[in-house]
Amino acid sequence: MPIYEYICNTCSEKFSLLQSISAAGDGAQCPKCASKKTRKVVSAFCCSSSGSGSDFGSGGGCSSSGHSHGAGGG
Ligand SMILES: [Zn+2]
Repeated sequence: MPIYEYICNTCSEKFSLLQSISAAGDGAQCPKCASKKTRKVVSAFCCSSSGSGSDFGSGGGCSSSGHSHGAGGG
């Protein structure tokens, strides 16, 4: 089951939820303020290079060979 990251628009709380691909789409509820005003966050795997004028602060952020496969699985 994929994990989706959400950000609460009310309290700016960042949380992740386990949602089915089919169930994906519905808004998630904030575990902090129980608000439904959340938005899905797209996690980037690698930083996009060759480009200037990005909102995100520049700086080495790409994780190199740090993937950890979940043990067990289920
Ligand atoms: Zn919230």
